[in-house]
Amino acid sequence: MRASKYLLTTQREAPADAEIISHKLMLRGGLIKQHSSGLYSWLPLGLRVFRKIESIIRAEMNKAGAIELSMPLVQPAELWQESQRWSKFGPELLRLTDRHQRNFCLGPTHEEIITDIARNEIRSYRQLPINLYQIQTKFRDEIRPRFGVMRTREFCMKDAYSFHLDQNSLQQTYEIMFDTYEKILSRIGLKFRSVIADTGSIGGSHSHEFHVIADSGEDAIAFSDESGYSANIEKAEAIAPKAEIIKNPPLLAEINTPGVKTIEQLCEFLDACKTSVVKTLLLRSEKENGDKKLSAIVLRGDHQLNLLKAEKVLQSHGDLALATKAQIEEFIGCSAGSLGPVDLNIDLFVDHSAAALGSFVCGANKEDLHLTGVCWDRDCPPFKVADLRNVINGDPSPDGVGKLKIARGIEVGHIFQLGKKYSSLMRATVSNEAGQETPMYMGCYGIGVGRLAAASIEQNHDNNGIIWPESIAPFQIAIIPINLHKSATVKECSENMYKELMLAGYDVLFMDLEKMRLGNMLSDVELIGIPHRLVIGERGLNNGQVEYRHRSRDDNEPLAIGTVLSFIKQQVNRHSPPLHL
Ligand code: ATP
Ligand code: MG
Repeated sequence: MRASKYLLTTQREAPADAEIISHKLMLRGGLIKQHSSGLYSWLPLGLRVFRKIESIIRAEMNKAGAIELSMPLVQPAELWQESQRWSKFGPELLRLTDRHQRNFCLGPTHEEIITDIARNEIRSYRQLPINLYQIQTKFRDEIRPRFGVMRTREFCMKDAYSFHLDQNSLQQTYEIMFDTYEKILSRIGLKFRSVIADTGSIGGSHSHEFHVIADSGEDAIAFSDESGYSANIEKAEAIAPKAEIIKNPPLLAEINTPGVKTIEQLCEFLDACKTSVVKTLLLRSEKENGDKKLSAIVLRGDHQLNLLKAEKVLQSHGDLALATKAQIEEFIGCSAGSLGPVDLNIDLFVDHSAAALGSFVCGANKEDLHLTGVCWDRDCPPFKVADLRNVINGDPSPDGVGKLKIARGIEVGHIFQLGKKYSSLMRATVSNEAGQETPMYMGCYGIGVGRLAAASIEQNHDNNGIIWPESIAPFQIAIIPINLHKSATVKECSENMYKELMLAGYDVLFMDLEKMRLGNMLSDVELIGIPHRLVIGERGLNNGQVEYRHRSRDDNEPLAIGTVLSFIKQQVNRHSPPLHL
């Protein structure tokens, strides 16, 4: 590609609201352009990366025996009513009405549509298993679109759906997809981890997420330092410690704690450790029948609430929320920092680690008062014990081997075993060997194309810009001529080299911009992360040489003109052959 005929739109500065490096560099490099919250264009340069990622995904899916199709973005409400998600899916589902007043939604995912296809097109168990996929637009009205294309409202996902006669067959395809995701992420050159995950609003039983390890990741993942165990922190089980046994329980005492509102202030005031105090959280939950109620959760002072675990224990439906200041004031008569389990007349749930304390300090449910020497059995109303907290660094690994460590991750892929959830509700059946109609087992497998591009930048950049891995770089090689318009030899050599490398099948960006200064060309090519660069100047040519530099190194290497092609061949990673656009 000749830069003079291309749209390169690099910028010196990123807008101030770009928080993470990938967002900044994608804007500065002119890969994407925002139009509204969570709505982006992929500019030509960005689209080349996007297409390469897409091609890797498509190639690996095809290799795994999956079959490509395409489904509509706009989906009829009737199908979502059948699956019961029309009412259950929250405000992320963008609903719309057509000119005939019929209801539709923009597909955040395609289980309903694919199940509608399967129930019409698949009749017999002989057609199973089958795995169908698309690489297509999704829309989710995200509450907080952010980080550029990492979390947008409109985005592109590869989503695959498999159908099976039994659980065994589903398990087999699930494992094939697991391996396929590992291959895709390896080809893209990402450092990643697969983790046990929650199934969320998609539903089903068994699920894994694939996380790209990066400090900017929105998720926390927990993994054992000695075994292969790893899980999303939402899902990682906190093992109950042994209960502390104290021979002489301390006396219960009320102490004045003026102005003490937080665990930190309390610990400082009493010169106590966070592990010897508890915190009490008031939560409002809503049952399926619409009944709202208040419950209290007690955690050890150094622990954090895990909302997902709490939702399960309290059997709430995704709308569990911390009570507001005013609600706490109205129902208990104090502020949040003074809450405690003693004499609390609402359902009480205590986390294992808090329940294991022999005695502890807590709020007295009166302003500026705390209680010390509190013992569960002696001083508190009846309560239920459950796993309600996030695991922390150093907790025992749930598989019994090693200790947990916590890292940040970007979720790029998610695979689920859906079982018969959708096929039962939507009557997607096949006739089995005995001729009986039976609902099919289903799996679904998603991976985000745009998020992968952003995640790659999070792992591959330096102060000068992006460092694309070979397999997804928008261009593999940049040719930068010095004084193209002044030197006939430079012009001839760079034109020839451009043709030679293009002919050999490489994606080449020829910086044939006569007006642009050398320094700017070099910094642009670094910013947009092109792996190999060749600088062609008259001085070098006089010695029969051009200068080569790899984006991840900072030394130049002189190459004899005749050896450039063979040198490039050696450099380009043979494991990720070029994908031509
Ligand atoms: P998250 O927890 O980050 O919202 P999710 O669990 O909702 O993700 P899935 O429904 O499993 O995501 O979607 C599969 C993949 O689609 C994700 O792993 C991610 O790569 C991509 N994806 C999901 N939501 C978005 C989004 N808003 N913007 C860009 N990519 C997304
Ligand atoms: Mg989501």
